[in-house]
Amino acid sequence: MPAPLRLRLDGDALVHNWRQLDRMSGAAACGAAVKANGYGLGSTEVARRLAAAGCRDFFVATWAEAQALAPLGLTLSVLHGVRAEDMEAARGGFARPVLNTEAQVVRWRGAGGGACDVMVDTGMNRLGVSAEAIAGGLLDGLTIETLMSHLACADEDSAMNEAQRQRFAALRGMTAARRLSLANSAGIGLGEDYAFDLTRPGLALYGGVPRAKMGGLIRQVVYPQAQILQRRCVRMGEAVGYNATWIAPGETEVAIINLGYADGYRRAFSGVGAARHDDVVLPELGRVSMDLVAIDVSACPHLAEGDWLEIDYALPAASQASGVSQYELLTGWGRRAERLWR
Ligand SMILES: *Cc1c(COP(=O)(O)O)cnc(C)c1O
Repeated sequence: MPAPLRLRLDGDALVHNWRQLDRMSGAAACGAAVKANGYGLGSTEVARRLAAAGCRDFFVATWAEAQALAPLGLTLSVLHGVRAEDMEAARGGFARPVLNTEAQVVRWRGAGGGACDVMVDTGMNRLGVSAEAIAGGLLDGLTIETLMSHLACADEDSAMNEAQRQRFAALRGMTAARRLSLANSAGIGLGEDYAFDLTRPGLALYGGVPRAKMGGLIRQVVYPQAQILQRRCVRMGEAVGYNATWIAPGETEVAIINLGYADGYRRAFSGVGAARHDDVVLPELGRVSMDLVAIDVSACPHLAEGDWLEIDYALPAASQASGVSQYELLTGWGRRAERLWR
């Protein structure tokens, strides 16, 4: 049966965003981070569309995520590398590990090597081997496709960006790597100096805007829509929702819609979220419940039980209103929401 909640996903906007990021990457190739099930949209659908548009390099976090995409026959890199438990899958050859630690390098070498990627830490102190270990010969003899690093502050104007760029640039020629890769979405926005040979955007593909100047170039991809389960008239002075946080200042028409924080519509939207119908903005009222949200539909007398409302979800604005990061707003959508591509 059709779900009472859906994410309308704009495939043209997804491809548009990849093309913009590819163009901003200059001479570098532009890949795609499709980890976390394509940031919640569905990694198979995302990867299929981007591959058809010309994207050639795809990044996932785990081998299970790579396995899910294996039937597409794409070039996949597994960002978390290889644990001992991953070696059997890794030997399957459908993805390259991104080696992050000296133990992973030893493990990969011990299994016969083969093409791999390597992450080097340039200051984030998250994943990656050190530049010193590389200078000490850690990677000698390995068949490395891409040497990569990751920017900690690319969505800010921080001196750390240039420091990390320089540390990474100093590694050119120090390994057998065929390509260098540094920039995520925000890193692409820092300029072509950060693009090296390959960029790895995620967020901006899906409509996120990590740096304000990218705003005009990136289109919204995810449009949540929820069905009205009940419409009621709330009299002046009556309350709506948990803890009665919203009191009707006058007679108010209220629609209760099939959407809640268990679906990924965060509780932080309580009192600040909005829905929309035919471009009329309809404010959210009171607390967001687990499965339900109340919307003021006084401006739309014709809306009735069974009708659908669009949820305001342009990521920069929704993040600003809720205080929740654009990443979390994308990746939090649960399985009850039907994904509908157009
Ligand atoms: C997730 C991830 C990306 C993509 O980052 P966005 O900020 O979503 O563009 C790129 N590289 C690495 C190593 C990542 O973990």
